[in-house]
Amino acid sequence: MRYAIIADIHANLAAFMAVLVDIERRGEADEVWCLGDIVGYGPDPHQCIELLRQTNHICVAGNHDLAAIGEVDTYEFNPDAVAAIRWTAKQLTTQDIAYIKNLPQVIEKDEFTLVHGSPRQPIWEYILSISAAKENFAYFKSKFCLVSHSHVPLIFKYGKTGSCSFNQFSPNKELSLGVERLIINPGAVGQPRDGDPRASYAIYDNETRKINLYRVPYDIAATQAKMVEQRLPLRLVARLSHGV
Ligand code: ZN
Repeated sequence: MRYAIIADIHANLAAFMAVLVDIERRGEADEVWCLGDIVGYGPDPHQCIELLRQTNHICVAGNHDLAAIGEVDTYEFNPDAVAAIRWTAKQLTTQDIAYIKNLPQVIEKDEFTLVHGSPRQPIWEYILSISAAKENFAYFKSKFCLVSHSHVPLIFKYGKTGSCSFNQFSPNKELSLGVERLIINPGAVGQPRDGDPRASYAIYDNETRKINLYRVPYDIAATQAKMVEQRLPLRLVARLSHGV
């Protein structure tokens, strides 16, 4: 079976469509694993939920998804994110809201635990440091954990001696699953923040037990034009050009 691992679509329909085309081009996926933040920041929240729902998928809730339906507070959001969430809330249909409301915070599937933030705090915690990763290995039972939220593709490895290390997850580095426990971040589809503006996602093949990361160019200007038209914050528009 082949699984496409996607995260942080952030209402960027052009990026999401480019990723789905890329998945198909590489031989399709039996299931899509989505790590949350379908909406927020971008100009097409309803369309992205609709498109995701047309795929055979599982999905956990992200902080922006829950904020858009009023389930979590936005006090930890910066002013641009709050403005985008207020706009997003007005775009969602009753079905979109019901769909988000039903998203679990944690999914256990095969050898993986799926969360948006971290296994310790599925909605809010960022795993960007070795110390945060090390502590979080105690909060999931499966061998591997998939996280997103930081929009940075990373692999944290828990060594036999209890040490922890990390590597950037890049397209030319195939990840072979072995005996060591890992926390893996596939990067963001709709708002990359690692300096590469191309959409990021991964494919996991459970026969070869390998995970590959892919970067996909998409029509950034098309998404930006829609954001300007909807008067979404200009800082959010600009950052898509640079992947920051
Ligand atoms: Zn996000």
